[in-house]
Amino acid sequence: MTHLLHRSIHTPPRHAVAAKGLHFTDSAGRDYIDASGGAAVSCLGHAHPDVIAALHAQLDRLAYAHTGFFTTDVAEELADTLIADAPEGLSHVYLVSGGSEAVEAALKMARQYFTETGQPQRRHIIARRQSYHGNTLGALAAGGNEWRRAQFKPLLMQAHHIAPCFAYREQWAGESDAEYAARAAAELEAKILELGADTVAAFVAEPVVGATAGAVPAVGDYFKRIRAICDKYGVLLILDEVMCGMGRTGSLYACEQDGISPDLLTIAKGLGGGYQPIGATLLSQKIYDAFAQGSGFFQHGHTYMGHPMAAAAGLAVQKVIRDDKLLDNVQAMGAELRHQLHAAFGQHAHVGDIRGRGLFQAIELVEDRQTKAPFDPSRKLHARIKAEAMARGLMVYPMGGTIDGVRGDHVLLAPPFIVTAAD
Ligand code: PLP
Repeated sequence: MTHLLHRSIHTPPRHAVAAKGLHFTDSAGRDYIDASGGAAVSCLGHAHPDVIAALHAQLDRLAYAHTGFFTTDVAEELADTLIADAPEGLSHVYLVSGGSEAVEAALKMARQYFTETGQPQRRHIIARRQSYHGNTLGALAAGGNEWRRAQFKPLLMQAHHIAPCFAYREQWAGESDAEYAARAAAELEAKILELGADTVAAFVAEPVVGATAGAVPAVGDYFKRIRAICDKYGVLLILDEVMCGMGRTGSLYACEQDGISPDLLTIAKGLGGGYQPIGATLLSQKIYDAFAQGSGFFQHGHTYMGHPMAAAAGLAVQKVIRDDKLLDNVQAMGAELRHQLHAAFGQHAHVGDIRGRGLFQAIELVEDRQTKAPFDPSRKLHARIKAEAMARGLMVYPMGGTIDGVRGDHVLLAPPFIVTAAD
């Protein structure tokens, strides 16, 4: 008997009692290897001594201060640390408690930017069908994951969706990466023109799609084209790096590998590595200036924003990533993981695709490799894989989703950055 409403009432979770490094222990004393960092969260593994020490010290010093009254050293230092390495043009940080909150803040910043700059008619948000931006109503409206959205649609603000850049499923035979990138990006321009260029506020996308399709990067110069289209029509570009950011793909920010900077950037999971709930929205100088020269105020806020314990966790995690040069390990172990996945499953009759960047890799399972036909959803393949893996002491992150009518079963791997080849 439980009084907790678990995610699944019919398959309640196992009971974790401890975790260290890459390993969880449950109440029956069983060991599990954390090969997915939960949902790409635990970038340093569990019980990292530096983070624990930083949290103890912060708790002794100052556990909470409302941001309407005080700022704190840790929050200021975390913002400085993030901006020092941020993509070009991003100048300020808004600290929140998770990914959905970071996306909500980004959407509202985009809207307020236009009310502050005398363009109140700009209200439309465009996103991609293959995307997940969070479960709160604004973020859910922006996202394209139908399974998560369907029953809440009457509550959602209107958002507009275009095709993703998803080579395995949507690139035509004989079409080059450059041609496909141009075709996929052209959908954004067409949608902007359809809605009326001066009515669109922002386009939001994950540089490497995570929870909806399993580690899907764009091909060719897709994001350079997206950046150019946004600039051409004065549309703000929001990149959601809640899952793929903070080193997961081998660079601190995934968009560095695409050679672009957004106007707004959301991060969360790997920011605090799971040691505290924390997320952030990074904004450009242009947006900051509009607020500063306008109302002088961002019309938003949460009780726990800029929480000192969360900021201390984020700061400690980010320090370890930099001091221990963990991005080098993400690159090396990402290549190793990819190599081993190809060796183990590359010829498997039911593995259609192996993809990803850095320690963010996924395999897509198909009934038929030639036709790419997916498995019948009633077989609940991804749920069975999760259960079978857990029974064998392995945490992976499988998911199923339907994009443009095609269902996919994917298994996402996102091990902590401290992983070794032996692991
Ligand atoms: N954005 C992306 C890309 C995500 O992957 C997620 C969570 O999986 C979110 C936003 C929502 O983050 P949270 O679950 O912390 O609210």
